[in-house]
Amino acid sequence: MYINKLLMTPGPTNVPKRVLNKMNELVFHHRTKEFGRVFEEFNERLKFIFQTNNTVLTFPAAGTGGLEATIVNMFSKKDKILAVSVGVFGDRFIEIGKTFDLDIEVINIPWGKGVEIEEIKSKLREDHKALIVTHNETSTGAVNDIKKIGEFMKDKNQLYIVDAVSSLGGIEIQMDNWNIDVLISASQKALMSPPGLTFVGVNEKAWGFAESSNISKYYFDFKKAKKYMEKEIAQTPYTPAVSLILGTNESLKIIEEEGLYNVYKRHEKLATRFRDGVKKLGLDLFVDKKYYSNTITSIKLQNKADKLKDIMEDEFNIVIAGGQGILKDKIIRVGHMGCVSEEMINLTLDSMKKSLEKIY
Ligand code: PLP
Repeated sequence: MYINKLLMTPGPTNVPKRVLNKMNELVFHHRTKEFGRVFEEFNERLKFIFQTNNTVLTFPAAGTGGLEATIVNMFSKKDKILAVSVGVFGDRFIEIGKTFDLDIEVINIPWGKGVEIEEIKSKLREDHKALIVTHNETSTGAVNDIKKIGEFMKDKNQLYIVDAVSSLGGIEIQMDNWNIDVLISASQKALMSPPGLTFVGVNEKAWGFAESSNISKYYFDFKKAKKYMEKEIAQTPYTPAVSLILGTNESLKIIEEEGLYNVYKRHEKLATRFRDGVKKLGLDLFVDKKYYSNTITSIKLQNKADKLKDIMEDEFNIVIAGGQGILKDKIIRVGHMGCVSEEMINLTLDSMKKSLEKIY
């Protein structure tokens, strides 16, 4: 499953051999029926993972491209937005919005926690065009309750936009049932594919916003992408990342074969096993139980985090992540998403134990 180093990072994650083999096949030309058929199949699979009957667009880009694409297609300059930030990626979405001259009011939550619904209820105003929330904050490992927020957002005029880059395919999300208008993700995390594709689910309400948006866009034009998807044989406006689509289509097939809800259960079981193992090592988790994530765990390691990370990689061939921003050298972040197994969790815990013995 992995050749050299085991990736226990919060993305990119280990890519199954079956997916790598698929990408090794001959490249299709993208204006052929052959590619169109794969693309149509792929689009249907994405809809299933998003749990939506709406369009899911694919762009060759990092997840950040999906965030930017959402901003430039949904809004007009000076639009007022309410955005929640619980860490680095919440901040990034806000920064992108500000870059395109949006007027963003921010709910800043202390890192390690998630937002409470009361906070959103008290801050969302009629003149806000949208609410932006990160589902799984990868810089801290805290999860926001996007289902509960979605219940509140039902039938509101504002768009409900969710960044699910590090949760889709690992933690339950139901785009339609949870009233999410725009849902963004990427290939390289729980979807166990290489980096390079971003996906954006867009519902009818959001298409209405796309009609009135006045921010300049060319490559990331949602309307153009949809028009090409709806041709007699589905296409993309520009050359798509054919091999990545073939590979990710295979990953989505693997998820379907295991069963989407079985995949979520496996993530839950392995995350619990990992957290319990970490506590047995005498370490403290960074996030309160209420906000635990089933795809990533952050562990407190004041001034020793980077050292542990280096030993894990250099001596045990296991790549984990360090803290970002204000959490640098204060925490380590271990990803347990995608094609993760009990064996990988055990190996990681065992190597952590041996690495800690070298430090203390
Ligand atoms: N949003 C979240 C929650 C993420 O975890 C990440 C990446 O880790 C991004 C956005 C940005 O994705 P990318 O690094 O693919 O641009």
